[in-house]
Amino acid sequence: MATERTFSIIKPDATRRNLTGAVTKMLEDGGLRVVASKRIHMTREQAEGFYGVHRERPFFNDLCTFMTSGPVVVQVLEGENAVARNREIMGATNPENADEGTIRKVHAESIEANSVHGSDSLENAKIEIDYFFKPEEIVG
Ligand code: UDP
Repeated sequence: MATERTFSIIKPDATRRNLTGAVTKMLEDGGLRVVASKRIHMTREQAEGFYGVHRERPFFNDLCTFMTSGPVVVQVLEGENAVARNREIMGATNPENADEGTIRKVHAESIEANSVHGSDSLENAKIEIDYFFKPEEIVG
């Protein structure tokens, strides 16, 4: 087992419903440690850059509008196999397909407003962490 870092976002649907603590508790209870965290309001430019890989997808514009519709909490999570572990705790993209007890099953409103983002690979985790955090903002 390897200690990894992954990148998480608590999305606007969750911050709007005051679920920052509830979502973070599920991450912590799942074995992950928050080693960096900040509440920001993403600009359109930031959202479009972050989701650049989805630029050609039909949901891209709506997704960027949603992600800039309110505050988000960006976090760096640390733990054993943190990338895969976080994806397990989050559940499937579409909450209808998410396992019982996952963040998206419990809290998500829709396939778009699905409460959390989590990196899908260690490589992307590094890129996403660097996109939002300076090294000195991460305290392990
Ligand atoms: N999304 C959407 N409609 C879709 C698929 C995805 O609005 O049909 C949004 C959703 O918020 C999702 C994000 O786009 O979390 C990124 O999609 P991805 O397929 O990377 O899913 P994730 O890795 O977040 O589970």
